[in-house]
Formats: sequence, C-alpha cells, structure tokens
Amino acid sequence: TQEFSVSNQNPIHGKMGRVPVGIGRRRMRIVVTGGAGFVGSHLVDKLIGRGDEVIIIDNFFTGRKENVVHLFGNPRFELIRHDVVEPILLEVDQIYHLACPASPVHYKYNPVKTIKTNVMGTLNMLGLAKRVGARFLLTSTSEVYGDPLQHPQKETYWGNVNPIGERSCYDEGKRTAETLTMDYHRGDGVEVRIARIFNTYGPRMCLDDGRVVSNFVAQAIRKQPMTVYGDGKQTRSFQYVSDLVDGLVALMEGEHIGPFNLGNPGEFTMLELAEVVKDTIDPSATIEYKPNTADDPHMRKPDISKAKELLNWEPKYP
Ligand code: NAD
Ligand code: UDP
Ligand code: UDP
Repeated sequence: TQEFSVSNQNPIHGKMGRVPVGIGRRRMRIVVTGGAGFVGSHLVDKLIGRGDEVIIIDNFFTGRKENVVHLFGNPRFELIRHDVVEPILLEVDQIYHLACPASPVHYKYNPVKTIKTNVMGTLNMLGLAKRVGARFLLTSTSEVYGDPLQHPQKETYWGNVNPIGERSCYDEGKRTAETLTMDYHRGDGVEVRIARIFNTYGPRMCLDDGRVVSNFVAQAIRKQPMTVYGDGKQTRSFQYVSDLVDGLVALMEGEHIGPFNLGNPGEFTMLELAEVVKDTIDPSATIEYKPNTADDPHMRKPDISKAKELLNWEPKYP
C-alpha cells in the first residue's frame, strides 16, 4: 500500500471519524461518481491502493462492471448503481464527481440527459458535500474553452462556446457545473476543486465509444480504414490516464481551488495521430476521410503552467 502524509496546511476535512491508515494520515471515505468509467476506475484503483475506502456511484450508462470487478470482495470497496440526477444520502470525506458521458457520441445520444447529469447531478453532489462537510472535486473539461480563439488555452480564458449547438449539452453543461461549484463555495463555504481535463487515453476506454484514439486503434486492429473527420488538420493534445489520475489527486489534496488545466501539452493533428497508430499497429493501415462533426474545435492545447507551479504536477508520459 502506498502511503502519503497530509501537510499541516491541509487540515483533515469532513466530519467523518477516521481510522488510522498509516503514519501521518487517517483513512478517508471517498465517493467517486462515474467510478465504473474509464478515468474513474483508474482513480478508484489509486485511492484503494493507498488505503482509503471508496464508494462508487454509477448508473452504468457508459461505465462497466468489468472496469472494477477486480475490486469486488475488497472490504474497502462499494459499488452503488445510482443515477446522480437523483438525490442520495451518504457520509463521506471527499467526493470526486466524474459522472457524465465524455465521448461526443455518448453525450449527444440523449442531450437533455447530459444536461441533467451535469446540472442536477452536480447540484446533488454539492448538496451532499455541503451537508456532510466533504471536499468536492469537479471534473470539468477543456470543452469549456469551446473552439478556442486563444492558443494554447490558459485557465483565465473564458472560451468561445456555441450555446445552441450539438455540443452545448456537454460544454455548457460543464460550464454550469463549474458555476454551481463556485457558488456553493462562495455561498455555503463548501471546499471545492475544479479540474479542466484535456483529451485522455489509456486502457479501459470503450473500444467503440467514438473517441479518436480508440477509433483509430480499433480500426487499425480490425484492418478497417482509420476514419479521419474533416481535413484531419485539427489538433488535440493527448494525456495518458495515469498522469491525469495523479493530477486529480494532487488537486484534491492540495490547497488550491482552481480551475486547473490537466492535460499534456504535446499537440498533434489527427493525421499525425493516424501516423502514430499506423507505425505502432499496422504499417499497411489506410485512411478514409469523413465529414467532420458540427462545432468541432479546430485546435486544443493546454497551458499547464498553473498546475506545474501550484500543484507541482506535470505529465510523465508522451
Ligand atoms: P466515461 O464515459 O468512461 O465515464 C463516465 C462514467 O459516468 C460512466 O461510468 C457512466 O456510466 C457514468 N455516468 C454517466 N452519467 C451518469 C449518471 N447520470 N449517474 C451516474 N453515473 C453516470 O468517461 P471518462 O472518460 O471516464 O470521463 C470521466 C469524466 O472526465 C467526465 O466527467 C468527463 O466529462 C471528464 N473528462 C474526460 C475527458 C477524457 O478525455 N476522457 C476529457 C475531459 C473531461
Ligand atoms: N442532496 C443530496 N444528498 C445530500 C444533501 C443534498 O442528494 O446529502 C441534494 C438535495 O436533494 C438537493 C441538492 O442536493 O436536491 C442540493 O441540496 P441543498 O441542500 O444545497 O439545496 P436544497 O435542498 O435546500 O434545495
Ligand atoms: N475524430 C476523427 N476520427 C474519429 C473520431 C474523431 O478524426 O474517428 C476527430 C474529431 O473530429 C475531433 C478529434 O478527432 O477533431 C477528437 O475527437 P474526440 O471525439 O476524440 O474528442 P473531442 O476532443 O472532440 O471531445
């Protein structure tokens, strides 16, 4: 078990009675909403691994039991099938709020549900945090910058977002979730943290969830052409999931509210990404061009100076 100590500037928060977990720190009870999903399941592994108790709340819209089945039987692990749009009563010290479909294909599938999840789901988790005095972390997104007119994006940029487009349920939903988070902080004194996550890849992504890394990899393995949307010159910056999880934990345990960009500044066009997949999986892989989706951001690259300075965090993997 990895142990870590909480500094003096970071008083034990929450009202939960804690049991010792090692030198310098007591065991916490932590909720991870969306914990059966791609990012959430890796975060849960890290929290369980360091000795904490974890309760996952997930409705299995895009999450899977397979992602966490290795934890079944662990007495410090619980899994609740629950939709965060509905209230729930729990006693916890920290809440990592991830519940929300992240792939454009999934969040556009039922846009009203996506908004409900972002607004009512976030409201419920903030209400819970307020009632029990838990610290609350929101996983927001680089999509709050929309199709950005500043490059790279700094946290001070307010974004260029279409309020009535196909992506709005997600990006406006997350913007509202950020607003709620700050209003509960200012109005009710809830301890909050906001992460703006940039495109993330790694094991346990759904193979067919429509995001570009999993699409290209799945297509190359299946000997199908890799589908490049538009001219393929749009850019994204991809971070490996363990780097993100380290950043989320550093943010939760640190002293700063944020928002913080958590992403890898390495920027690639989709054509360059296709080349990487080709080199890695199948040199004979081909490309097929398809029309791009509406409001697709032309470029995206995080400025992570703030996270480097205040969280002492930066990605380790290219
Ligand atoms: P994911 O789709 O794999 O996981 C989301 C999880 O939330 C799933 O387990 C799903 O079943 C659950 N969920 C969805 N709606 C719910 C509801 N109403 N009630 C309960 N559970 C619900 O996505 P992910 O990539 O792991 O993303 C996790 C979080 O990180 C999301 O909030 C997403 O917006 C954010 N994020 C991810 C990325 C990325 O590149 N992966 C980028 C930016 C932001
Ligand atoms: N809530 C919850 N669990 C709790 C406390 C609150 O799900 O432990 C929900 C509650 O049902 C409400 C939301 O969180 O829908 C906001 O709660 P808050 O107390 O801030 O607002 P109010 O209930 O006064 O509208
Ligand atoms: N994309 C692509 N082919 C695919 C899937 C996506 O070219 O099969 C492009 C998409 O148009 C976008 C980028 O890859 O410009 C990233 O898309 P993704 O859905 O992974 O994430 P986003 O950053 O748009 O949320």
